[in-house]
Amino acid sequence: MKVLVPVKRVVDYNVKIRVKADQTGVETANVKMSMNPFDEIAVEQAIRLKEAGTASEVIAVSIGPAQSQETIRTALAMGADRGILVEADADVEPLAVAKLLKAIVEKEGPELVILGKQAIDDDSNQTGQMLSALMGWPQATFASEVAMKDGAMDVTREVDGGLETINVKLPAAVTVDLRLNEPRYVSLPNIMKAKKKPIDTMAPADLGVDTAKRLEVLKVVEPEKRQGGAKVASVAELVEKLKNEAKVI
Ligand code: AMP
Repeated sequence: MKVLVPVKRVVDYNVKIRVKADQTGVETANVKMSMNPFDEIAVEQAIRLKEAGTASEVIAVSIGPAQSQETIRTALAMGADRGILVEADADVEPLAVAKLLKAIVEKEGPELVILGKQAIDDDSNQTGQMLSALMGWPQATFASEVAMKDGAMDVTREVDGGLETINVKLPAAVTVDLRLNEPRYVSLPNIMKAKKKPIDTMAPADLGVDTAKRLEVLKVVEPEKRQGGAKVASVAELVEKLKNEAKVI
């Protein structure tokens, strides 16, 4: 079976985010960009399925500016077989991404799409769910363990109360959580090999998808600086502070 892994280019998770002076978004000029960390986990899982003989081909897809090729190359260096780049603005909304992925799914016919549970730039946590709805597929979100079983998959999910295991029939969309696996490091020989792997480039219009924005960002601001906390000596003091300082009771 083919496995499709959408990988997003985002500001590296180690970078301290700065808001642009005009409050239209966050600064991305001269900022280190990397693959969304959850997508690395998704790529790792897809490659493990291939190594186990379950998957026949792993395709990495990115929607974004031309530099998203680097993100696809990272997936190829990890072990994905080929890439697809849909060249578009950096901030295509989750619904448009899901529509583009649907068009690619219809072309490629994968039985499994493994996505990150969320992209750490917009923190939307929407794309996988929207894709499964558009396809009419089952979805399993926040996966921390997966096991193939006769054309279906047992997925252990991280839910509020702990863990829950569900069985989804394939084709399905699965979104991955942090504990699913530890992504491998890419070795230099594999980076060299990845340079020879093919990447198809296309535009949203080639897939018949309109990526015009449906959402309007009014402004982006820094979160308020946190006030320092304080320890109280007794329950009585706590109640007094809640009443008279915080005025919440
Ligand atoms: P989100 O719904 O934006 O939090 O993203 C959830 C997941 O959808 C990510 O972890 C990626 O696997 C995928 N995704 C979202 N946006 C893109 C994009 N522009 N290109 C490729 N994959 C994406």
